[in-house]
Amino acid sequence: MLGVDDVRDQVGSIGFGCRGCGACCRRVAEDSNLVIVSPAEVRAIMAATGMAWDEVAEPYPDFIDAGNGGEYTLAWCIRRTADACIFLRDGRCSIYAHRPWICRTYPFMLVDDDLLVSECPGLGTPLSPGAAHDVALGLCRRQVAEAAEEAGVRAVYRKARVPPGGRVVIDSEGVKVLHD
Ligand code: SF4
Repeated sequence: MLGVDDVRDQVGSIGFGCRGCGACCRRVAEDSNLVIVSPAEVRAIMAATGMAWDEVAEPYPDFIDAGNGGEYTLAWCIRRTADACIFLRDGRCSIYAHRPWICRTYPFMLVDDDLLVSECPGLGTPLSPGAAHDVALGLCRRQVAEAAEEAGVRAVYRKARVPPGGRVVIDSEGVKVLHD
């Protein structure tokens, strides 16, 4: 796992400044507006907005055949309209203070020891050392949060039972049966 200083140096050399275009919240390609969220992030948005779970989140769209007529998926995403995140209003994030890690750290992502960079018109904008440090700190915290969620999902998955013919989401909190 990279340290904050290493990530800061890499982010600083790439450069980034959000232009507020909202492109990362819109569907510009298949599933480009797919924002995976942990149960903790869903609950934080529910608390901030008063919305219900199903109003905030939808199942990750790739379901896996459970072999008994049932199927499961292993994550939640922020609910989407046909062309954007439901929380994009008037070109701005309406839950900005409570936005998920993916949104907080876009266009960067840490995967093991690699810094991945997604397309973004704000790339290349000079960053101060302090701003690069803040981005790096967010990325490292996101990586820790994602590792904890993955471990939680694995622990639930080991004991999970998908009901015959049922559709479920297996997350770190348990097996959640979907009702049409
Ligand atoms: S939660 Fe906010 S920042 Fe994240 S995709 Fe939706 S509108 Fe954009």
